[in-house]
This record gives sequence, structure tokens and C-alpha cells, in this order.
Amino acid sequence: MTPPPPVTGQAAAGRDTAVLLKNATVVDTRDGTLAPGTDVLIRADRIVDVRPGIVVTDGPEPFTVDARGKYVVPGYADMHAHPLGQRPEEEARDLELLLAHGVTGFRQMSGSLALLEKRASGTLGLPAASPELLALPGPLLLTPVNAATGEQAVAAVREQHAAGADFIKAAMVTPEVFFAAQAEALRLGLPIVGHLPVGIDVPKASRIGMKSIEHLGPGVGLFACCSTDGAHVHANAAGQPAMKVPPFKLPFMERVMERVVKKLVINPINRTKPADIENLRLAVRTFDDDLAAELAERFVADGTWQVPTLIRVKTQELCDDPAFANDPDLRYMGEATVRSWKAAARKFTAFPAEARETFRAVYRRQLELTKLFDDAGVPMLVGSDCSGAAWVVPGASLHHEFDELARAGLTPLRVLQMTTLRAAEFLDATDTMGTVEPGRRADLVLLDADPVERVEHLHRIAGVVRAGQHYGAAELDALKERVAARA
Ligand SMILES: [Zn+2]
Repeated sequence: MTPPPPVTGQAAAGRDTAVLLKNATVVDTRDGTLAPGTDVLIRADRIVDVRPGIVVTDGPEPFTVDARGKYVVPGYADMHAHPLGQRPEEEARDLELLLAHGVTGFRQMSGSLALLEKRASGTLGLPAASPELLALPGPLLLTPVNAATGEQAVAAVREQHAAGADFIKAAMVTPEVFFAAQAEALRLGLPIVGHLPVGIDVPKASRIGMKSIEHLGPGVGLFACCSTDGAHVHANAAGQPAMKVPPFKLPFMERVMERVVKKLVINPINRTKPADIENLRLAVRTFDDDLAAELAERFVADGTWQVPTLIRVKTQELCDDPAFANDPDLRYMGEATVRSWKAAARKFTAFPAEARETFRAVYRRQLELTKLFDDAGVPMLVGSDCSGAAWVVPGASLHHEFDELARAGLTPLRVLQMTTLRAAEFLDATDTMGTVEPGRRADLVLLDADPVERVEHLHRIAGVVRAGQHYGAAELDALKERVAARA
């Protein structure tokens, strides 16, 4: 079977092209104000004018879109994603799926020296229909793989800095390694983000400088700080080996570990030991709102961001939920991938019912914690943690994340902000993204309904503009069908 042809947007990007969105309702992401009857003029890949009644008298005739009844918002940013570093056909599939779901930018959360080199030389080879790569790190810091000691971690940070990494991502690291890496990253002016496994003093890490914490921990990391019995939760969890690998470094170790990690990330919870489940139960039972509020204050004071990736923790903690196995969007993923996700769900069902109830209770607390953080003013971002995680379909999962955030109690406007304006603030890029204003990049989503009114309206995508190319509903459908046909 010959593969379907590539899908391109209308008004191919270039110096001489223009797109005019006529009579749209532009949504101000700062406060949710709606400006109906507004035209948006795009030249090449920039927004050049936003006001009623634009008449184009010079330059090329614009490709005009009748946007009456449509709401225009900035394109969505998936601020925790891993589409890169896979096989080329998987990369293309996931990037196209992201774009087809309104994602016009993503923060890649794991990198490699090879990816950094490709980006530097302009040879990443992303498909024509792709969101923008917003930030790229080097390899994850993993104890003991590439960061067995503080000294090794410092060397790894320096190597990644020299290779052009935008930030350092800590994954499974010991406190010694984490704090050594953090000090070196900050000395070099490089943000450090990622996981704070148990054992690491979270308030201390925040105070010193942690740009973003992912997945609310993960595990009991943050919960230990919110527990009236925090000392026990901490002690119970401390001293676990991060990962079992030979105590010496092999030249091919990183390759081997890449494969190990790939398997592990499908559902890391499946490795939870009975003692860890007991500890989770203790953390959930002793969760204290006041302690959580104290932690939130710390994050606000330090400017430490949270990327809850609720859909990622939910698909782990409720892995056997039949809704996941029956998700029609699985048609986009290859058969082998779906098989591995089903296997992970089967493995999950081997946990005793009591353990699975504990995981569900943990998830309820994570929703509570997210709401509490939002109420306290902790800056947060939307992230899906695609690709590689069980049941997390690229693009579609970002919409599930919107829904989970709403379920936690966040307002539709806040959710919209977290995937647009807040992402721009996080990246220090408010002059080029995050709002629909002249000078911003022409990365937009057109919606059929008001997103400030209901979070579900963020799903009702009528069109996407990416780098000045307009994809109408037909092109977006074709993009999805092309992915499904190749799966
Ligand atoms: Zn991740």
C-alpha cells in the first residue's frame, strides 16, 4: 500500500504569503476578554495586525478565512512531551498528531547530544506539519547511568551546556547527585527541571532554584512535604536504589539504558513494591492542607513551576480503567505499541484490589494538590508526557489533560492560560507567543465555541495556523487519517 501523501496547510509559508482571518472573536489570554468582529492578518509566519475591518492594499492577496463564529486563541503548547528521539516514522506520527490536535509548540523533555547537534546544524528533519520545538535538553540525568556521583553529574551538566542544551533534566537521581548538578547548572546559567525523587529536600531544591517540577514529584516526593507524618514517609522511601545497573560505566551503557528506560516508562508504577504502597497509603492518610499550602507558598516565593501531567499520573494509577483500552484514539498508534500498553494494564491488575484503591486515592490527592497549588498562585503548565507512556496518545492526551485540570477545579481560562500565556512566560517568550497580537508568531487555534466558558470548548478545533500556514478542518482530518492509515 502506498502511504497517503503529506498534508500541507494552505498559504504555504514564505516571504510572500498572507492569511487573513475575517470576523473572528479574539480571546485575550490575559483576562479572557473577547473581541468579536476582529480580523487577524498574518504575513509569512507572524501576526502583523489584529483589529476590525482590515483591508489589505499592499503585498500579496491574502488567503482569507471566514472566521465568523470562531474563537481565536494562541496555539497550544505541550510543555512536557517526548516526541523526539524515537524512530523517524514514530517521530513524524507523533508530531503530526500533536499539530492535528492544536499543539503548535512543545517542550521536549528528554534529549541527547545527537539531537542537540542536529538542532544546531538544522538537520532535525521535522515533518512539514509539525509543532515547533520550544526547548531541548541533553540526556536525562540518571543515577548511576551518567551521573553515578556528584562529580560525574557536574561533568554531564558541563557537557550538555557546551552542546547547547536549553536546560538540564533530572530524572532518577540521588540527593548528592541532584544538588551537585543543580549547583553547576545554576553556575552556568542553565535552568534545571525535572523529577525530585524521595530523599531530596524539596523546599531546599526550590529555594536554591528549580525551574519546574514535573508530575507533582513524582511518587511521594511532594506528598512527603504535605504529610503530618512526613518524617516517616520520607524515611520509608529513602535509600531505595534508583536503578540497578552494573557499578561501572560501559561505552554502550547509554544505548542499553535508553531501551531499559523506554520499557520502564510505559508504566513505572508497575514496579511499586508492597512497602512503597504502604508508604503511599500513609502519605495519603496524613495529607494535610496547611502543610500543602506552606509548600505552595514556597513555590510561589521561589517562582518554582509545576507541570502536574495529571493524565500521565492517572494513566499509571488507574491503568486498568477500561476507558483507556477502549479509547478510539488508539487507532493512531501502532499495533505493537497498543499491545505493550495492554500488557502494562494486565500487569497492573495483578496488584491486590487494596493496592489499586491506594493508587486511586493517590490520584484524588493529586487532583486536590493541583487545585490547592492553583488557588495559592503557583505557576503551572499543561503537559501530557507523550510519547512512550501507556495510554498517552500524542495530541489527544493534551486535551485529556485539559479535562483533568478542569476536574481538579481549575477554571477554563486558567487551563487556556497554562497552555498558552503561561508557557510563553515560562520560556521568557511573551513577545513572540502566548497572545494573539501583532509581532507574535502565527501559531493559532480556531475554535467553534468560547473556551473561556467551558474547558470542553478547547477540544472543538475548527482550524490551526502553524507558522503562517492555515489548516482547516479538512486538512486536520486528512492529517489524522494519514496517521491512522500508517499505524
Ligand atoms: Zn516525561
